[in-house]
Amino acid sequence: MTDNVYSTICPGCNFGCGLYIRENGALEVDFRKSSPTNAGKLCRFGMSLPRFYKPVKSTVDGKEMALEDAAKEAAKRISGSKGSVAFLSFGNTTTEELLAFQKLGESYLCTGANFEALPKDTYQTVSVGIPYSDIEAAKHIVLFIDPYEQYPLIVRRLLSAKNKGAKITAVWWKDLPLANENVRPADVSKLQITKDSLIIADFHPLSDVEQVKSVLALAKNAGAKITFLKPFANSTGAYLLYKDAKQKSLAQLVEDINKGTIKTLFCLESDPSALIPTETLSKLTNLIVQIGQAVMAKANIVIAHEPLYKKKGTLVNNEGRVQALGGATTNGLEALGIIAGAKFEFNTLHESVKKTLGITAVDEFMTPKYERPTYGAIQAASKPAEAKTALVSVYNPFMWFNLTDDNDFVELSLNTVRALKLLKGGTLKVKSNGNAIEKKFKVAPVLDNVLLTGKKIGIEKGALTPVEISR
Ligand code: SF4
Repeated sequence: MTDNVYSTICPGCNFGCGLYIRENGALEVDFRKSSPTNAGKLCRFGMSLPRFYKPVKSTVDGKEMALEDAAKEAAKRISGSKGSVAFLSFGNTTTEELLAFQKLGESYLCTGANFEALPKDTYQTVSVGIPYSDIEAAKHIVLFIDPYEQYPLIVRRLLSAKNKGAKITAVWWKDLPLANENVRPADVSKLQITKDSLIIADFHPLSDVEQVKSVLALAKNAGAKITFLKPFANSTGAYLLYKDAKQKSLAQLVEDINKGTIKTLFCLESDPSALIPTETLSKLTNLIVQIGQAVMAKANIVIAHEPLYKKKGTLVNNEGRVQALGGATTNGLEALGIIAGAKFEFNTLHESVKKTLGITAVDEFMTPKYERPTYGAIQAASKPAEAKTALVSVYNPFMWFNLTDDNDFVELSLNTVRALKLLKGGTLKVKSNGNAIEKKFKVAPVLDNVLLTGKKIGIEKGALTPVEISR
């Protein structure tokens, strides 16, 4: 193996797929068959990593600078706006950087997740999932996700469970090919869940907390297992590290920027334009982004460090498996040190990480055992009335990272196509709150009052947007 091949982990979601990145003029992806999470297989996003890792330069107010100077300027602006600074990371970087980030940003720390709205005793269950081998061993699996679209490498585990005799129930907006039974989200009360069931849902900054509470209550009441999948490479690491920290939700952050109490936002390995409206970001005096690949948001300062695959450090996947990134540099950590006015030493942070995770060594072939204490009864609010027609955003790796994808269509049912007299090869008009857009469509086994989109189309108001549709 030459020096320019990195054994690394895909940053597309928290599944933790291993791969090689080869720097050979252009970037290339190679399969890593020895990876215990994915045995070398990758989804479309994993294969798109050369596009994801588009280079970025450090800048201050649009002017190119050295990384160190950009970090110094960021430090100046952050200390000049004390009391109105927020620190945001969706957990898309090493556990060691996330620990340094916590020390830097404890005055206003945001991972986007809405833990405040969940009972404290559910924290660990939501934060860390169960081993993938337990998914393969389950007798009955209840999916509250679209595995093909959102967490593609889990499909192999589900098929393996099915081959061993598991029944798969999908609670989704359309029929999923691998399911033995398809139940509509509105019919969730008809589900037969027992202690032999395993519920698979997901948890992310745009999760509907009532939905999260409702699946937790379903599992609790039946004595079933539950596991949550997550979208960012180290979401689990971030949640495990920050379990005693005060975290703000994404909604709270957006509100605080809108009302002017937060004027400076520092984002670590997170492009805020993917999740925060442009008009909100434009109210900031300083948007500072420290990142390892091209950023879409209009940042006042960009601190461009190494891409994730070159970093030294660890990631924790959905199962709680701790995986080493194959890189050797710590530029990101050094930049955080300049901003904090402290020296963050990698080895010290790494030891703290191991202590917090309860491990003595990083071994990707071992999944540590995590305590998931039982949680009390959960009151889930009654379901709000469903909109007549809704656009459902199916959050997938391309959507989370604003990476262009070729699925530029919405899915709708054949009944809807007939009712609207849509023409083959034509478009559909979708209106919401005075905004209108024309989209190509594709017929799928979707509910009649639902449009599914795996790509942002510009009129969304969260995961479920009431819309009017016409020809
Ligand atoms: S499933 Fe997730 S981690 Fe695996 S290749 Fe796809 S995006 Fe990357």
